[in-house]
Amino acid sequence: MKKGILMVISGFSGAGKGTLVKRLLAEHEDYVLSVSMTTRKPREGERDGVDYFFTDRETFEKTIAEGGLIEYASYVGNYYGTPKAYVEDQLSKGNNVILEIEIQGARNIKKIYPDSLLLFVTPPSAAELERRLKGRGTETDDVIAGRLARAAEESLGIDDYDYIVVNDDLDTCVETVDALVEAARSQPIRMKELIGQLREELEAYRK
Ligand code: 5GP
Repeated sequence: MKKGILMVISGFSGAGKGTLVKRLLAEHEDYVLSVSMTTRKPREGERDGVDYFFTDRETFEKTIAEGGLIEYASYVGNYYGTPKAYVEDQLSKGNNVILEIEIQGARNIKKIYPDSLLLFVTPPSAAELERRLKGRGTETDDVIAGRLARAAEESLGIDDYDYIVVNDDLDTCVETVDALVEAARSQPIRMKELIGQLREELEAYRK
C-alpha cells in the first residue's frame, strides 16, 4: 500500500490555517489531522482531544522524556508537540497526515521526514494579518502583539518551506493546496518504489 504524505501546514497565527485545514479534511477522506499536545489553556469553544490534548508542563515534559513526541517547540510561552504514534500509524495506513505546526517544528519534521511537504500559509499583507487577529476577538492586546512580533520573526524562515500559499480567497487557497499535493506525489523523493522498480527492470536491457 502507498504511504501517505506528511503535510506540514504553517503560517502566521491568524493566517487562516485552521479554516483551510477544515476544508481539506472535509473534502478528502484520506486526509487526517494530527492533534497536538499543548500546555496552553483552552480558548473558548476548544475541546480536549479535538483541538489539542491540553496538559500541564510536567506531563508534557514526561511525554518528551518517554519519546512520545516527534517534535515539540515553545511558542509564546507554551509548549506544543506532535504525538508520534498517531502520525506513524496513519501514514502507514496510506492516509495523508496534516500537521498544523509552527516553524521550528516544521524544520524538525523535514529533518526527520525528508519526504514531508512543507506549506506556508500567509495573508497577502501584514495589515491584513493584524486585522484578522483583532477580528478574532479571543485574545488580549498583549497576546496579539506577541503574535505579530512572532510573525515578524517567522517571516525570516519562510524560505525553508517547499511552497507558499497566499490565503486571500479560501476556495482558491484549497485548489492551490490540492494542486501542490498532486504535484508533490510525482516528485522523485515520493516515487522511490517506482524508480527502484524501473531501474531493476531496465537492468536486463543494459549493454
Ligand atoms: P495556537 O495557540 O494559536 O493554537 O498555536 C500557536 C502555534 O503553535 C501555531 O503556529 C500552531 O501551528 C503551533 N502548533 C500547534 N501544534 C503544534 C505542535 O505540535 N508542534 C509545533 N511545533 N507547533 C505547533
